[in-house]
Amino acid sequence: MAIQGKCIHHPGLSATIEVNGKKYCQRCETGQQQAEKLLPNDIEPRKCFVWYKGGNVWTPIRGTGCAHWVAHQKNITKGAPIHKCLAGCTYKVVDLIIGRTKVTLDKVAVGHIYVNPKVDHCGMVSKITKLPGKPDKIEI
Ligand SMILES: [Zn+2]
Ligand SMILES: [Zn+2]
Repeated sequence: MAIQGKCIHHPGLSATIEVNGKKYCQRCETGQQQAEKLLPNDIEPRKCFVWYKGGNVWTPIRGTGCAHWVAHQKNITKGAPIHKCLAGCTYKVVDLIIGRTKVTLDKVAVGHIYVNPKVDHCGMVSKITKLPGKPDKIEI
C-alpha cells in the first residue's frame, strides 16, 4: 500500500512506511530494521527501541530504558519530541515525572512510579508488603 507524503527525516524522499503516525522513507525503513536486529531478543515493541542518529544512521536506544519502559506501561508522552520514542513515549526520567505528584511512602500504591533520589533511574511499584512496626516493603 502506497503512503502519501514525505519522510520526516528526508523531506525530499517519499514515505514508504508509517510508524505511529510518522512517515519514513525506504532508507529509514531499512535503517530501522538494521538497528532492530542489534537489539536484545526480549525487547518489545522493537520499533520503539531504535532512534535516528542523523546522517541516515539508525541505532538502538542507549541507556537502561527504565523510563521508556515505564512510559509505555503508563502511556506517558511528556517532554520534547526528541526525547521520545517512535510511539511517542518518554525516554527520560525527568520528563516522566512532569506534572506528577510526590507521595509519601505510606501512600504508595501498586502502579505508582518510583524514582531514585538522583532522578536517573525509575521503575513501577509492583508489590507492597505491610510489615508490622516497620516501613512497608516496596518492590519495583
Ligand atoms: Zn527517511
Ligand atoms: Zn517506546
